[in-house]
Amino acid sequence: MTLSRELFNQSLNIIPGGVNSPVRSFSSVGGSPLYIKSGSGPYIYDADNNSYIDFCGSWGPMILGHANKEIVKSIQHAASLGISFGTNTPAEIQMAQLIKEAFPSIDKVRLTTSGTEATMTALRLARAYTKRNKILKFDGCYHGHADAFLVKAGSGLLTNSLSSSAGIPQTVIKDTLVVPYNDLDAVKVIFEEVGKEIACVIVEPVAGNMGLVKPAPGFLEGLREITLKNNSLLIFDEVITGFRLCFGGYQNFIKMSPDLTTLGKIIGGGLPIGAVGGKKEIMDLLAPLGGVYQAGTLSGNPVALAAGIVSLLNLKNDNIYKQLEEKTNEFVNSLKPALLEHQACIQNIGSMFTIYFQNKIPNNLNEMKRCDTNLFNTFFHKLLKNGVYFSPSQFEVNFISTEHTASVLKTAANKIIESLN
Ligand code: PMP
Repeated sequence: MTLSRELFNQSLNIIPGGVNSPVRSFSSVGGSPLYIKSGSGPYIYDADNNSYIDFCGSWGPMILGHANKEIVKSIQHAASLGISFGTNTPAEIQMAQLIKEAFPSIDKVRLTTSGTEATMTALRLARAYTKRNKILKFDGCYHGHADAFLVKAGSGLLTNSLSSSAGIPQTVIKDTLVVPYNDLDAVKVIFEEVGKEIACVIVEPVAGNMGLVKPAPGFLEGLREITLKNNSLLIFDEVITGFRLCFGGYQNFIKMSPDLTTLGKIIGGGLPIGAVGGKKEIMDLLAPLGGVYQAGTLSGNPVALAAGIVSLLNLKNDNIYKQLEEKTNEFVNSLKPALLEHQACIQNIGSMFTIYFQNKIPNNLNEMKRCDTNLFNTFFHKLLKNGVYFSPSQFEVNFISTEHTASVLKTAANKIIESLN
C-alpha cells in the first residue's frame, strides 16, 4: 500500500471523508488522493516520493510556483515580527492600495479570510444597498459555500431552484434564481418578471468552476445593461481571475465596471485571504460606518498580507502575463492534434486551461456535462502515473505558473499525449 493510501486511511477515521475540502477526496475521479509533502516551482512531491508537474496550483493561488523564494522570505520576516494582532497593521493599507490601483472599479476594499467570506459580504452589501432580497446567479458558477450560493437550476427558471447541499433552508433557496451561463435571454425573462426584487447578479466573468467556460461576446456587457436598467448591482466574482490574467481582473480587459468585485487566491500568495471591493457608496455601508455587519479575527492577517503583497509586486509587470499567455498558448496548441484524434478538445484563456472530453468547446454547464467523465477519469490516473497532476475533476480548470518553463511544458505535453492512449 502506498504511504498516501495509508495516510488517507488514517484521515478517514478522524476527518469527514478524509479531507478538509470535498474535491480533494478524488471522489469524482475515483481512487484515493495523494498526500503532498512539498512543492518547488512547477513540481509537487507526494509522501511516496513521486514527483509531479503540478497544474492545479492549489486551485489558482500559486501563479508564481511553489515555495517561491521571495514569498517564503516575506512570510518568514512577517512571522518573525508577530503572527497576528487582531488590530490594524500597515500592510493592510498597502494591499488595499495595490488592489485599488489594479481595479479602476474599486474605490474601497475590505479584506476577509477566504473567497467565501468575500462573496458572502458582497451579497449582504448588495441586499442592504438595494433593499431587495433576490439574487441571480449562473448554473455552474461557484461563489463559495454560503447558503445563498449553493443553489442550482431546477426545471423552471423562476420557481424551481434546487439546493445543491443539504441543510439549506427553503426560505434561502427561494431567493436565489439560477440561469444558464451565457444565456442573456434567460436573464431578461427573469428581470421582466421580478427585476424589481433582484438585489444583484453575481457572475464569474470567466467561469472556472465547471471547467473553463468563456463569456460569450456581449454577455457580460448585457448583464451590466440589464442590472443598471433595473437598479440591481452587478458583482464580478474574480476570486480565480483576479491577478490571473492581468494585473487586475477580467473586467480590465473588457473595460467594464461592476459595482462590486470579489477576490481571493492570488492576493494571498497561497495563504488564506479574500477581499471585496467596489464603489465607495456601497462599501461604506459596512460596519462600523454603516449597518452591514462583517468581521474576522484574522482578516487582513499580516503574514498572509506579506505573502500577498510580494506576489502582487512581482506580478506588477505586463511581461509576466504576456509570457504566461504565450507559453500557455503554445502548450495548448501542441496538444490539439492528439486531443482531436481522441474526440477531445482544449481551450485556454491566459494561463487557465481545460481539456474537454467531448468534441465541442462548451458554453454552459449543460454543454459541459456532455464531456465523457469516464474518459477523463482514466486519463487523470494515467497522468498521475506519468508524473502530471491535474485538478482532480473534469469540471475544473488547470493553471500554469511562471515556473512552468517551456521545457517543463514540453515534457508535460508529451506525458499528456502519452496518457491519452
Ligand atoms: N469564488 C470563486 C470564483 C471561487 O473559485 C472560489 C473557490 N474556488 C470561491 C469563490 C470561494 O473561495 P474560498 O475557497 O477561498 O472560500
